[in-house]
Amino acid sequence: MNQYDQFKEIIKQAKAYEYAMTVVGWDSSTEAPKGAFARRAEMMGELRKQVLKLKTSSDYQHLVNYLLQHEDELSTEELREIKKAKKTLDKTIKIPQNEIIEYGKLIQLSQKDWEFAKANEDWDGFKGTLAKIIDYNRKFIDYYGFDMEPYDVLLDDYEEGMTMKDFDQFFNTLRVELVPFIKEVLANKKVDEKPYINAKYKASKQKEFCTYLMDVFAFNQDKGGMKTSVHPFTWNTHPSDVRFTTRYLENYVFSSIFAAIHELGHATYEQQIDEKYNDTLLSGGTSMGIHESQSRFYENIIGRSKSFWKTHLPKLKKVFPRQLKDVDVDSFYEAVNRAEASFIRVEADELTYPIHIMLRYEIEKMLFNKEIEVDDLPQIWNDKMEEYLGIRPKTYSEGVLQDVHWSAGLLGYFPTYALGSAYAAQLYYTMKKELNLDELISTNNIKEINNWLQEKVHKFGASKSPKQILKEVTNEDFNAMYYVRFLKEKYTELYLK
Ligand code: ZN
Repeated sequence: MNQYDQFKEIIKQAKAYEYAMTVVGWDSSTEAPKGAFARRAEMMGELRKQVLKLKTSSDYQHLVNYLLQHEDELSTEELREIKKAKKTLDKTIKIPQNEIIEYGKLIQLSQKDWEFAKANEDWDGFKGTLAKIIDYNRKFIDYYGFDMEPYDVLLDDYEEGMTMKDFDQFFNTLRVELVPFIKEVLANKKVDEKPYINAKYKASKQKEFCTYLMDVFAFNQDKGGMKTSVHPFTWNTHPSDVRFTTRYLENYVFSSIFAAIHELGHATYEQQIDEKYNDTLLSGGTSMGIHESQSRFYENIIGRSKSFWKTHLPKLKKVFPRQLKDVDVDSFYEAVNRAEASFIRVEADELTYPIHIMLRYEIEKMLFNKEIEVDDLPQIWNDKMEEYLGIRPKTYSEGVLQDVHWSAGLLGYFPTYALGSAYAAQLYYTMKKELNLDELISTNNIKEINNWLQEKVHKFGASKSPKQILKEVTNEDFNAMYYVRFLKEKYTELYLK
């Protein structure tokens, strides 16, 4: 076996543990009993240790370093893989092992702490845990000793090559272009109240419609499935086992529909990655931003289009004949695109959504630039909310405690959510030159859109960087103005005409 094959062998072993951990994680979010929690955290810790052992073993280190010194023996893709391995290895070996394991345990427990705090408005009971998580991350960044700003290290973890400089430019564009536009839209009451949005929709019936959506989006159910969880998510393991969740709120039917469509975007990306990457570090989506671009493309560009509802409202009306009796497509299209200032990010509409992300970006940046500390968070959160959207949270769960991310140690992750929508818009204007989207959607041919995305984005897995994918598909670098254009076109037509 040559050195690359030996390297690949170790990766495969690690992947077997990771697969087991992913399935246990899936189980804990969907069906595991509450009481199993502590023991499960302990067992997961043991599995994590095994992965760490493999990926820090002297054999592994030797192979990675050898291969880096023998670039000529590697293909372009293999070289990219080894460079990724080296980056992760450097990060891992610079942190004392006991601290990695302690941090892993903290993260397992802190998510339960957060759930409790959110349910009981107990910010004071949670802030100590959050401070510990932030301290660990600050300490880890110091251990790495990279010649980078601390927050840039975190940003690069989720979106390769993106720095505060890039994100400042992105969010400045949104602040200048979108904040005044949003204020103008929100001041206009053109779209009237629609009581049927919050009528009662039985969960079992919602499930029926979400199952129908899996077919509409041509999701391969032999290699994937859907369940429910508190917060919808997609687990990517390998293309032949991709699971996602939605949630059923009986007084808000859009929640399950758009969560399902969103997650189907993530899940389809994963299913369409070339299986040749299975045993490599190039498996899975290339970045959080590109991943989110696929889910947002599904959710907003397809799922909130008029042609989509022209085609599928009849089915929804069949499932809910009483609730949607007199509802026509125009009304429903307005309803699914209703813009309003609201507190909760996951329930926010397409137009105001990026503002929720901008707020989190600005806060995280201040935290890692040490301009603020955890104690300051509720006040700053509320002030920014008031400044950008003109509303002020009255409770912690409406404000700083609403998202799971920080309790899960996901810092630097939020910006990719807005980036994803912006990437999706840029991809959309390219796709439109080649495909007639409205026609494909209204003839129930979303499979064709999937094929386009597979050829241009999905099949490459992580073998190309996000910047490379965007440039190759759209013929230009990331340009936030496509996103601004998309939102302005859509919401001017809906609200300002
Ligand atoms: Zn997503």
